[in-house]
Amino acid sequence: MSGKADPRTAGDGTTSRTRLDRGRGALGPALELVHTGRAPTRAVLTAELGVTRATAGAVAAELEALGLIRVDARPGAAAGSQGRPSHRLAVAENGPVALAAQVHADGFRAALVGLGGRIVATAPGCEVVDADPAKVLGSVVEAGAELLRQTGRRCVGAGLAVPSAVAEPDGLALNPLHLAWPAGAPVRRIFAEQVRAAGLDGPAFAANDVNLAALAEHRHGAGRGARDLLCVATGHRGVGGALVLDGRLHTGSSGLALEVGHLTVNPEGRPCHCGSRGCLDVEADPLAFLTAAGREPGPEVSLLQQSIDLIRGHYDDPAVRTATEALIDRLGLGLAGLVNILNPDRIILGGLHRALLDADPGRLRAVVADRSLWGQSGGVPILPCTLDHNSLVGAAELAWQPVLDDPLGALV
Ligand SMILES: [Zn+2]
Repeated sequence: MSGKADPRTAGDGTTSRTRLDRGRGALGPALELVHTGRAPTRAVLTAELGVTRATAGAVAAELEALGLIRVDARPGAAAGSQGRPSHRLAVAENGPVALAAQVHADGFRAALVGLGGRIVATAPGCEVVDADPAKVLGSVVEAGAELLRQTGRRCVGAGLAVPSAVAEPDGLALNPLHLAWPAGAPVRRIFAEQVRAAGLDGPAFAANDVNLAALAEHRHGAGRGARDLLCVATGHRGVGGALVLDGRLHTGSSGLALEVGHLTVNPEGRPCHCGSRGCLDVEADPLAFLTAAGREPGPEVSLLQQSIDLIRGHYDDPAVRTATEALIDRLGLGLAGLVNILNPDRIILGGLHRALLDADPGRLRAVVADRSLWGQSGGVPILPCTLDHNSLVGAAELAWQPVLDDPLGALV
């Protein structure tokens, strides 16, 4: 995309127009660097982009003019690479937002998310999921549209996280098993229709919730800097996985890769809805934990919250401890198989699995090391996810992607 310098000025090549011509192709990479916190100053931006200071300055100025970032030239700004003060770069506080939506087994939620993965506003969660996807998605989009009216922010697009594999290229929710939705529901099309019906501009996207959590953690959380990032997490029900390779989600040939919920971790275990038996999905999710601990799931809060509260608040109860250890062992077995196959350089755990790791990190790491070829030799770091609402933040990343790819093209 970088334009050639105007021949009339190629001799010195320093007019601002030619700088910007050269810099247009750098706008997206520059925005991504600021968005992910990797370019806190203009000096770092210059070095990361491999351009001249003048070009980096023109690029930063253009992103500021688009309302996306803030360039702070006040004295006392952080030192640059040569020890000189350098302009500080940050995402614009009142810039545009993406509408993010999440549907899970126990309800749905809408939020507005700015650059940098910052949640600007959230609507109160709803705890009923209708069997008609259009009704649910209409409600969640309306909640997001109300947030946009209240805040007056510009919306770049909308993203949806669902607890189902989403088949590409058509955006079909193939196995929304913990929702009463029909298998194969065209969620992306329905979501896009609801976004348009609410009078919102911008494209609409939909993807699996754990894929989106992994993407968000890679850009803004516990996965930053990892090259082969494996994420395993429970939702409110079931278990999902995702792989981020060199910054991109690995989704397989049709969007269905990393269905880790159906790894067998207990051959004698309970029957799974997939037709097999003893899968992670039914052996290491919140319902499995509550059952193992001898607790009757109550209706007052979600199963996920009940199980996390139980581990955090009652770990001295022998039944809770025994259930925790049993689930850690099953999860560890699943992770060990994944380590052998995928050779990740980092594993991050979310949902109930994060609470299991926090409860007894040594036990989980030992199971993975004992049961895996590469775990024994290398010792793959296993870390908790760190973002609140990482699936929502990831849903917003989908909507931000066209802007990150080409800020001028997407916004002007
Ligand atoms: Zn299964």
